[in-house]
Amino acid sequence: MKIINSPAVMTAWAEERAKSGRRIALVPTMGCFHAGHLSLMQLAAEKGDDVIVSLFVNPMQFGPSEDFAAYPRNLEKDFAVAVREGVQVIFAPEPDAMYPEGFQTVVSVSQITAHLCGESRPGHFDGVVTVLVKLFNITRAHCAVFGEKDFQQLAVIRRMVADLNLGIEIIGHPIVREKDGLAMSSRNTYLGAQERKTALCLYESLQIARQEASSGTLAAGVLSERIREHILSFPGTEIEYVSLVDYRSLQPVEKIDTATLLALAVRINDRVRLIDNCMVFDRGAAA
Ligand code: AMP
Repeated sequence: MKIINSPAVMTAWAEERAKSGRRIALVPTMGCFHAGHLSLMQLAAEKGDDVIVSLFVNPMQFGPSEDFAAYPRNLEKDFAVAVREGVQVIFAPEPDAMYPEGFQTVVSVSQITAHLCGESRPGHFDGVVTVLVKLFNITRAHCAVFGEKDFQQLAVIRRMVADLNLGIEIIGHPIVREKDGLAMSSRNTYLGAQERKTALCLYESLQIARQEASSGTLAAGVLSERIREHILSFPGTEIEYVSLVDYRSLQPVEKIDTATLLALAVRINDRVRLIDNCMVFDRGAAA
């Protein structure tokens, strides 16, 4: 496995591979790999001939009061894990290489970023899509794999790729969970033992939503109130959003149906921010 830091070297490598007809699959990450990341790498290996994993904690997608400096980093372990997964290249640029002096271009997607994380983290998705356009160009990727854990991110990326005719195939991967249901996340490493128990309030909320909806609670206001109560019954929780939205437009809905997605963002002890989501009904099930 190669570790490449320079964007120019990365592009030269990718062009060489593409010339010999290889299909390049990219997995963009911020590192500190867990089983969710590994599943994305495995899917990338099925979809492409060469897998590039980018490992870049992107300063542009963090707000001034967010955890950019503290974000967990574990390069040596990540490299070892990626070797085992058969990744060809880890692309791990320094921030200066991605944003050299004079950098001043921002890509921005509008309506679909109006709610959920787009609302609570202003500027976040501008940072995400701007760095992705750069990563897509630098790696000459034919396809890229993203997790549905960041459901809004995936929707924003699909919109941007379509709107800008980027021609790269975007592939989604279902959420990978711990045995007890907690969605895997690099930020789970922040959780102390008690907080780890509290974190289950997200997964439990998804289950409550599915149960309530299947037993006939279809008013979004009623269901979201029920979920808020459940989350707040755990000490130290603060709700950033509990939202029932249409899974395509990500706009809030009043009545729940088969196109409804429940999205949650919860802070634990004002320290750890966790997100999760699910379709309220199985796709294709009758509402
Ligand atoms: P991150 O390193 O957190 O930026 O995540 C990199 C990629 O992994 C993103 O596409 C995430 O959506 C995806 N990812 C993170 N956690 C999970 C998970 N539990 N299940 C599936 N994909 C995930």
